[in-house]
Amino acid sequence: MPLVSIRDELARAQAGHYGIPCFDVFDMVATEGTFLAIEDQRAPTIIAIYAGFIDRPGADVFANAIRTMASQATVPVSLILDHGASYEQCIKALTYGFTDVMFDGSQLPVEENIAITSMVVRAAHAVGASVEAELGHVGRGSDYEAFGGQRQGFTDPALAERFVAETGVDSLAVAIGTAHGVYKGTPCLDLDLLAEIRRRVDVPLVMHGGSGLSEEQFKAAIEAGITKINVATDLMLTAGAKMIETAKADDASYFGILDAARQSYRQRTAYYMDLFGATGKA
Ligand SMILES: [Zn+2]
Repeated sequence: MPLVSIRDELARAQAGHYGIPCFDVFDMVATEGTFLAIEDQRAPTIIAIYAGFIDRPGADVFANAIRTMASQATVPVSLILDHGASYEQCIKALTYGFTDVMFDGSQLPVEENIAITSMVVRAAHAVGASVEAELGHVGRGSDYEAFGGQRQGFTDPALAERFVAETGVDSLAVAIGTAHGVYKGTPCLDLDLLAEIRRRVDVPLVMHGGSGLSEEQFKAAIEAGITKINVATDLMLTAGAKMIETAKADDASYFGILDAARQSYRQRTAYYMDLFGATGKA
């Protein structure tokens, strides 16, 4: 199965009421661990490169390595730009061969978000890539106590309907009570709001800020209409802890520490594939 745009897999998952995981990777060790899990679990998966890394030297080499590994995988794998900050960054990702791009205009005035998202959609569709956008704004977990309870930045369902219709976007990230990074406070999801957005919008809905939610919250979010789920922080924290633990052993070695990270990614991404119901869906 070659590297594919995630569009069709998201449609299948939406119809089948399971979630497609999206994992951010920052190096080859994490990437190798994630690909091992993809084959172990036979789960359609999205690999993401965070936009902050796309302008770094060698980003095209890293993207190419992931593309090559995906093209050799026996299950569908996609490569998405996560939180593209500008039209130009999305175009750069498309020239690097990303199968999908996210443009994040969630902190722009809505008309500007619509205008730029529409341009990204036209460019991406011209080369067969799909586009995710964000409406409302998923904030930082460190600020969660300040905005979570106040429903600050939460997605407006009527606006979501208009946004999807006007931009032609393929999937939509929504703000329903999650946050990026480590939560300060307890995450609380507004599932009624999610259900209302689901009723008004027909494209797959995306949940960012998965790290720190309970298994029940993940399952309830998928049940209420989430199809793509982004997880990054938990993978890094878990692998980091395993590396530190491994480094403390008397026989600790460079390769041992790297393999601890690789196996941590393998186990933890497999856990999420199982939890989201993606395992065996390839
Ligand atoms: Zn995100």
